[in-house]
Amino acid sequence: MMLDTSTLRVALAIVTLTLLCLFYFITFRRTRSSYSGWWCSALLLFLTGSASYLLDGTVHQSWANPLGNTLLVGGAGAMWAGARSLRRTSPKLWSLLAGPVVTGVVSVMDHPATNNWSGGAVMLGLMALMLGLSSRELFRLDPDYSRVHRPLAYGSALLGLFYLGRLIAFLLDGQEGPVFVTYFGSVVTTLLTSVILVLASFTMAEVSNEQLTRDLRARATVDGLTGLLNRTAFLDLAENELRRLSGARTTASIVLADLDHFKAVNDKYGHAAGDAALQTFAAACTASVRSTDLVGRYGGEEFILLLPGVSPERAREMAAIISRRLQEEQPNVAAKLPTVSYGIASTGPGRVDLQALIDSADAALYRAKTLGRDRSVLATSLREEQTA
Ligand code: GH3
Ligand code: MG
Ligand code: MG
Repeated sequence: MMLDTSTLRVALAIVTLTLLCLFYFITFRRTRSSYSGWWCSALLLFLTGSASYLLDGTVHQSWANPLGNTLLVGGAGAMWAGARSLRRTSPKLWSLLAGPVVTGVVSVMDHPATNNWSGGAVMLGLMALMLGLSSRELFRLDPDYSRVHRPLAYGSALLGLFYLGRLIAFLLDGQEGPVFVTYFGSVVTTLLTSVILVLASFTMAEVSNEQLTRDLRARATVDGLTGLLNRTAFLDLAENELRRLSGARTTASIVLADLDHFKAVNDKYGHAAGDAALQTFAAACTASVRSTDLVGRYGGEEFILLLPGVSPERAREMAAIISRRLQEEQPNVAAKLPTVSYGIASTGPGRVDLQALIDSADAALYRAKTLGRDRSVLATSLREEQTA
């Protein structure tokens, strides 16, 4: 082979270290994006993993070889976690640790003092798996996530397939076999790894910025305390939904909910207890509605729901279910969770305007308060019913 393995490895190590510094000091410190954080971890693991193999042939090989395998699989796992963070799902800790731990254990039991491919099959298989999973995550992103995530997805797929090829050659041909050494040995691996690192650095800034922008946008639509939609986001989404439903001639109900004597909860048990009660109520709403319903925090201790395809009577049943669920919750701070009053308004022929619906629901809510609270009132006929 014309290319000398150790020289290539040293070159790759220098490139990796340079990228690590760039990613950390430029992209991570500036955006704090979890994507760049995971990539920094991956590079650190690749760097230390490859460095461990330098101890092959010394007395330290018995621990350094398994350690190298463990760190490399951990690095590929960090790439996977980074890709997942773009879709805002994070892998369970056990699924990140399982690969490296299994690799380490198998390698230690595979005569690492004399065998410098200890645990080789497991290491190669898990590398292929982790790289394949990273690529899958990247392919599942919105096509318009950024202009550059596709090349990275293809790069990971290529490297994952290459590791699969290494695994097959390793199993069929053996670690000394000509096919494994010529086509799947260190030289080709080092070259392909360099390609994915180049792709990563090319895409890093743009993908990190996109992640940052999307996080900010999500934060701007979600209420910080309860995790529900905030008022503006609810109104936007509800407006669209009502327009869609009126086209399909489907009815929908708006429910306004207001916690009863909530000021007293704050006064008696403190603001933190009040916050906890708001969170408990939000959770009771989320647990009671369907995935197609919208739930928002309308303001202070007022909440709003849009229930598509739900009649006023059914909406009143839903309100009763939410109140029941709330009262079943064990209050952890306040002695007793507050009761809730509801005003309900539904769409009908010629009544699809969101603001008009909210106004009717608000009038019904006001009536529920004056009638003694802890009940729901329908706007149409102003019928009332005790909910708890
Ligand atoms: P009513 O039964 O008539 O609705 O009485 P109420 O005490 O619930 O109504 P009022 O509007 O007088 O008081 C609402 C209180 O909600 C006042 C405000 O301090 C409290 N509040 C609003 N937002 C928050 C919040 O985010 N956290 C906490 N802890 N309290 C809040
Ligand atoms: Mg209020
Ligand atoms: Mg209130």
